[in-house]
Amino acid sequence: MKIQDEIDQLTAQLDRLKAMRDSCGHSFTPVVKEYENRREPIWSNKPMGSDYFNPIITGHTDVSVPVWRRTCTKCGLVQTTEKLVEVPVQPQFQPEFDKP
Ligand SMILES: [Zn+2]
Repeated sequence: MKIQDEIDQLTAQLDRLKAMRDSCGHSFTPVVKEYENRREPIWSNKPMGSDYFNPIITGHTDVSVPVWRRTCTKCGLVQTTEKLVEVPVQPQFQPEFDKP
């Protein structure tokens, strides 16, 4: 089998698997909050000749970023997000009785 034939065959198989995953109807596990460690640059405005407004990277700092993950129990799709949306608080009601 030629390499291109194998590439075409595997691409078709990958497309079929992606289509199966997209039509899964996902059943996600409860959301898990985790922290990812990242290395972020420190930007500073250091004078470079007469130009004082040229931010450059002067170092790095390690930051811990909260992320939320959920996994589909059927197909194994893992979704990760850093975005949070505000959930409006629903007023709660309870029955009120007349005083006896
Ligand atoms: Zn799924």
